[in-house]
Amino acid sequence: MTTQSVLQFFERFPTDDACLEHLWTVRYGDQTECPKCEKPSKFHRVKKRPVYECAWCAHQISPMAGTPFAKSRTPLQKWFYAMYLFTTTRHGVSAKELQRQLSVTYKTAWRIGHEIRKYMGEVDGNAPLGGAGVDVEVDETLIGGSVKGKGQGYKGNKTCVVGMLERNGELVTKVVSARDKVSMKGVILSNVLPGSTIQTDEFGGYKDIDQSGYNHVKVNHKLGEYATKDGAGVNGIEAFWAQLKRGINGTHVHVSRKHLPKYLGEFEFRYNLRKRPDLMLPALLQAF
Ligand SMILES: [Zn+2]
Repeated sequence: MTTQSVLQFFERFPTDDACLEHLWTVRYGDQTECPKCEKPSKFHRVKKRPVYECAWCAHQISPMAGTPFAKSRTPLQKWFYAMYLFTTTRHGVSAKELQRQLSVTYKTAWRIGHEIRKYMGEVDGNAPLGGAGVDVEVDETLIGGSVKGKGQGYKGNKTCVVGMLERNGELVTKVVSARDKVSMKGVILSNVLPGSTIQTDEFGGYKDIDQSGYNHVKVNHKLGEYATKDGAGVNGIEAFWAQLKRGINGTHVHVSRKHLPKYLGEFEFRYNLRKRPDLMLPALLQAF
């Protein structure tokens, strides 16, 4: 199943009104009782305003309230189309690209991009991984920062990200404050259920994790080992890191530590639905 074509998107959402109606249906479609007069009621769209009104007491509900579009002056269809773009790319969407595709200012495009990334992360969620007998790959990487003039190997302003991937399941990534044992243990304890089998490389940060209620299987990259004979390894996460870095370096040039979690949420969302790209846009358009 592939994603919708641009043409299919505009057939489905030809106008701002069509987008608003979609929001109403998804969020309040089944509503039979008015929250104000408490009567079973039909709501109808108010002309020229993006709200729906109770047939009995004229109580108005805005389908946009509480969504990323609530305080935006950008037309709803542009927001929907921006989400479409985020679900049909592998490497992300730059603010420049949004500016061009949506005909909005750079500042607006930048804000829309970040709101959508944040929202994608929320929709993706972060339920704990693993459980008794379940394999979970754990691996860490350093992202961003500048190495200019500091000599090779300088990593002081890079950000450490830990990825945790349940076999045949979800991926969760988290920014940690340091690449050390305390951070690794903390992030694993808060995201991976006890009893899981943690698979890592030989990095010392994972040492003793088997004393915190997990089984621990190590692969030794230095010995040219990428999977143990039981198939354990961190190849899944390494593939994700490659994709993430291609996206960040190729599309965005620079991503600050402050905004990195939003990009992680975006790439995680796509990774977790990679086998059902046709569900990406519906997932985003139904979760409000
Ligand atoms: Zn009412």
